[in-house]
Amino acid sequence: MANLVYLNGDWLAASSAKVSVNDRGFLFADGIYEVIPVYQRRPFLLNLHLERLQRSAQAIGLAIAPLASYQSLVTELIDVNDSVDGLVYLQLTFGADSHRNHLPSQPLTPTCYASISPFNVRWDIPTPVKVATMEDIRWLRCDIKSTSLLGNVMLKRACQQQHADEPLLHRNGRITEGASCNYFFVKQGRLLTPPADHLILAGITRTWVIELAQQLAMDVSETPVFLDDLMTMDEVFLTSSSREIQPVAQIDDIIFHQGQCGPVTAQLIQAFHTSKRHLIQE
Ligand code: PMP
Repeated sequence: MANLVYLNGDWLAASSAKVSVNDRGFLFADGIYEVIPVYQRRPFLLNLHLERLQRSAQAIGLAIAPLASYQSLVTELIDVNDSVDGLVYLQLTFGADSHRNHLPSQPLTPTCYASISPFNVRWDIPTPVKVATMEDIRWLRCDIKSTSLLGNVMLKRACQQQHADEPLLHRNGRITEGASCNYFFVKQGRLLTPPADHLILAGITRTWVIELAQQLAMDVSETPVFLDDLMTMDEVFLTSSSREIQPVAQIDDIIFHQGQCGPVTAQLIQAFHTSKRHLIQE
């Protein structure tokens, strides 16, 4: 498979794609991004991803091209690389200035970068993961899909040291999300997930899982969930574009469903796979 990336109008080998040291993305992480799954050459839920890109751009005051142009870019990226399945990474920054300045010294042209890489998860074998609770040390605009991910990376590192797969973040005991995923909880047949406020990223997979659960006539609530409630949960799972729906076997010392995928999670995984097949066939 060819591996070409897109940078500001050019198609290049990743090793030849260079960004200025004065790019505001490099100096300030002054940018936004999207990660879009591709199945059987079709981007999955592309419109939802592009609408979120637009919301992120609006929130940071970045003027971006019409969404149709990113739609074409994603299609071309898949074609150029002859990709069947993979993850598209699309990043926009405020662009390169003449020198480092907190505020741009002149009007800048945004930097646009896109690449596609293979998945590293097997969907056919949902592997239950272990997560560790941690205080959410990030900023208060987690609703923006910003490239400023230092807090997320520090939390992932801390998690690795505890031999856990992902943090379960909380602010003073109120659960927010993971460093790169959202969480769902099953309690007495009800599906609970923290509300999409400024403390979490409104995941596209999260939105889709809520939709699927409603189609299955499940009782879904976007409601605050607290660390103190964890003992009472029957099942827990996480969602993201790169991991779809992944069962959580253990949070700290609490084991859920004997460390196996629970029935509600399994039902949603199945519904997710079916919806993927339908959307691919459309
Ligand atoms: N929260 C955070 C902090 C994330 O980084 C991600 C993954 N990008 C998600 C949630 C899940 O979002 P999505 O389902 O759109 O991949």
